Amino acid sequence: MFVNSKTVSTFQPAYLRLYESVELDRRVAEGLASLENCRVCPRDCDVDRLHDKFAVCKTGRYAIVSSHFAHFGEEDCLRGRYGSGTIFFSGCNLRCVFCQNFDISWEVHGRAVPPERLAEMMLELQEQGCHNINFVTPEHVVPQILEALPLAIERGLRLPLVYNTSAYDSMESLRLLDGVVDIYMPDFKWWDAEMARVYSKAPNYPEVARRTIREMHRQVGELVLDDRGLAVRGVILRHLVMPGSIVGTKEICEWIARELSPDTYVNLMPQYYPAGKVGPTLYAEINRGIDSREYAEALELAWAAGLRRLDSREVARGKRLM
Ligand code: SF4
Repeated sequence: MFVNSKTVSTFQPAYLRLYESVELDRRVAEGLASLENCRVCPRDCDVDRLHDKFAVCKTGRYAIVSSHFAHFGEEDCLRGRYGSGTIFFSGCNLRCVFCQNFDISWEVHGRAVPPERLAEMMLELQEQGCHNINFVTPEHVVPQILEALPLAIERGLRLPLVYNTSAYDSMESLRLLDGVVDIYMPDFKWWDAEMARVYSKAPNYPEVARRTIREMHRQVGELVLDDRGLAVRGVILRHLVMPGSIVGTKEICEWIARELSPDTYVNLMPQYYPAGKVGPTLYAEINRGIDSREYAEALELAWAAGLRRLDSREVARGKRLM
């Protein structure tokens, strides 16, 4: 059940403290240097992105942005009244065959943006009244986000930052983000290495995700809301329920309750639909949405694991399937 028990009424984004010392500048320099032999994510491609070479994520020196806007489809604690200020990065370090943003992640539609423009986008979203800056698919552009951040702060950025990730991150990136990100929103996709290999082309995904989510939780802890019910700090953990129980919902829920906390805010998402490379001939076993029984089963598993802070809107949405 959704429990709005942890609230705060004043808010200071985490990054201000680092900005006021030289630490944020130091992290920018370290992040940019890491692009030269890129190991920004667990793919360890070793290409020189400073000279615009690229590999799996198809992104060179500058981040590619497909869109930025006030998003009203995110969790209630992010969208609030005026929306979550999402910046959608193109390219991706995972290769999910069912990706619902295939044109952005695989085909990389969008524009390369220098840090000044990325900073402006954050400020435009703040100007529109958005409650946070929500970086979507940021795993491969952590140095570029860090590079833009001081430019935005010096022009008045004060919103909390949401790092909206697949959890396929490097520990090095998370070290650079410690004290910068206020809200981590990892999507724990796979428990089983073989499933991760077949459907996301990343057999080491489960071990990476367990490591990175644990670290995110160590940095920011459980989700904290302000007196308007808006997220200001902590972890929001997402898990997409898929057809045929292939994702390991039971094991993932048990792991969250055991290794993080039963009070972890968890969004069990029912909205899977076939997209990307999935069709009647390729990956036919997932060429359908989930049915009511499958979502009910996922909920039961979460409750049985002891999780007691499930996103209420998605639970209601899932129940409409039933
Ligand atoms: S960020 Fe991109 S180039 Fe760098 S290691 Fe990851 S996939 Fe490879």
